[in-house]
Amino acid sequence: MKVIRLREGKERSLARRHPWVFQGSIEKGKADPGETVRVESHAGEFLAWGAFSPESQIRVRAWTWDADERIDAAFFERRLARAIALRARMALPSDGVRLVHGEADGLPGLVVDRYGPVLSVQFLSCGVERWKATIADQLLALTGCTRLYERSDASVRQLEGLPPVRAWLRGGSDDPAASQVTIHESGWRLTVDVAEGHKTGYYLDQRDNRARFAQLVKQYGCRSVLNCFSYTGGFSVAALAGGAAEVISVDSSAAALELAKEHVALNGFDAARHAVLDADVNATLREMLQQGRTFDAIVLDPPKFAPTAAHADRASRAYKDINRLALKLLAPGGLLLTFSCSGGISADLFHKIVAGAAMDAQVDGALIARLEGAADHPTTLMFPEGEYLKGLAILKQA
Ligand code: SAH
Repeated sequence: MKVIRLREGKERSLARRHPWVFQGSIEKGKADPGETVRVESHAGEFLAWGAFSPESQIRVRAWTWDADERIDAAFFERRLARAIALRARMALPSDGVRLVHGEADGLPGLVVDRYGPVLSVQFLSCGVERWKATIADQLLALTGCTRLYERSDASVRQLEGLPPVRAWLRGGSDDPAASQVTIHESGWRLTVDVAEGHKTGYYLDQRDNRARFAQLVKQYGCRSVLNCFSYTGGFSVAALAGGAAEVISVDSSAAALELAKEHVALNGFDAARHAVLDADVNATLREMLQQGRTFDAIVLDPPKFAPTAAHADRASRAYKDINRLALKLLAPGGLLLTFSCSGGISADLFHKIVAGAAMDAQVDGALIARLEGAADHPTTLMFPEGEYLKGLAILKQA
């Protein structure tokens, strides 16, 4: 058993059950990638069992604060079963479900999304990398799925010194069609490609907000809708379901837009109600303003502008810019759904940024709802870093 000894006074955060130990807090101790280590205070008291990451700034991620708990196959089975049982209680309106959400489920670095019969999994830390085979087998046993695709190609793997991996890990197939699955979300059908799609294939965290958007479009009678950063058109399908007459999906990924078009057909909507625009959102908003166009509803769901707080300044300006343009483009009485999925931008700061954008646009807005990620992407009380998706629903005053 290898021991990691912390520097004096550096045990506070871990003792408060925050799962990360940074390199700068460690006095001495080393281990192999992913090896289980005993983390001790400067005085030699037990703090946690964790996984060692020799190259990462986050040098240890805690598995448990229970000195008697062993980190073995049974440990992973308990944690995975607990995470899956939690989702079962949520009665989610979809068969696309995040079964494991990393730190929030006591499994740092592990993301497991279930798309119908297929699992799409990210192993993003040395700890889960080391237990990969055990975790994969247990996931199949616990879910009854037979196919598991590994999407360990997120950039954070580099910080762990791990290579990107994108391949079938269990139940593989060479047929490219095998990576496509159609899920049923809120009564809609959506095709997800676990090999080619973003992240594990889809943005499950926006599930509730897509459903909410359909209701709002209906309630406020929005006819024209601009869905910015549409990806495969989830919010566009929602808008059509809500009764919108004219929906435009804007994204810089041509492949995503192809799928957006397919989704319109797959859900039985007339293709004439939907158009796609393969373009930069910022430039598009400016052009449309110049053309004097207006929309009854606009969705802004950009990629992470600020991965960490260090990027917050530049990201704030970028968020403010698109929100200002969107608020101007909205017809009086129009609806804006605006999001940030940046861990480095707090909900408070995002509110301030959007308020600043409204000032600049000389628009008065009524905040009708605060939005967040779906319940299967929980945050724990001890790990605020896990909170990333926040949004606002705003009605432009007539
Ligand atoms: N709303 C989507 C998820 C959006 S993810 C859903 O509910 O599924 C962010 C999207 O923004 C990605 O599809 C990416 O291709 C696109 N994107 C990133 N930068 C862009 C830019 N400058 N202009 C247009 N699209 C962009």
